[in-house]
Amino acid sequence: MRAEFKGSYPSTKVLPEGDLPEFAFIGRSNVGKSSLINMLCNHRDLAKTSSKPGKTQHIARFLVDNKWYLIDLPGYGYAKVSKESRAIFGELIQDYLLDREKLYCVFVLIDSRLEAQKIDLEFMEWLGESGVPFTIAFTKTDKLKPAEVITNVENYKTKLLETWVELPDMFVTSATEKLGQTEILKFIDKVRGK
Ligand code: GDP
Repeated sequence: MRAEFKGSYPSTKVLPEGDLPEFAFIGRSNVGKSSLINMLCNHRDLAKTSSKPGKTQHIARFLVDNKWYLIDLPGYGYAKVSKESRAIFGELIQDYLLDREKLYCVFVLIDSRLEAQKIDLEFMEWLGESGVPFTIAFTKTDKLKPAEVITNVENYKTKLLETWVELPDMFVTSATEKLGQTEILKFIDKVRGK
């Protein structure tokens, strides 16, 4: 597996349209996105640790094995929740997700230790309404006992089934334990039709 940084873009207007499939990673700030991306790519510091709130947001793009793009979307969650979803997730995130022909799937990262958070649930509902395919990756599972991981994932499923008829694919991950790498990469290959 070879991942190459291709650039960081403050707007989708300057994000090149490629021919290759794109897989995007997103979650609340501090959820462990950079760590998960680095773990997936066998790299210590490919994705930089999250930028501080207030900093200009960017979309980073990495070419993996010359076959697909890993898209590192900005973290969400600092904006105060308002009726305007645009205000919650940010224009950059929405522009990317709503108008990207080569976007095959979004990985929504969820901290495995926490109860379901409103902003994540709303974000996934918005993805569903917008017709954007997504999966869930639970992060930092090494911080829990194995039985707690199972309970929390089951609770999350129960919560999702209050609004969803079908559950998305889910991955249990830990960046420190390198857990979930094989499963996620296999899933990406499957979605790419490989
Ligand atoms: P981001 O803001 O979503 O990119 O999150 P980071 O990857 O920067 O991680 C936020 C914090 O959580 C950092 O202190 C990481 O070291 C820690 N962290 C991230 N993933 C894991 C994990 O799988 N296990 C543990 N124990 N800590 C993690």
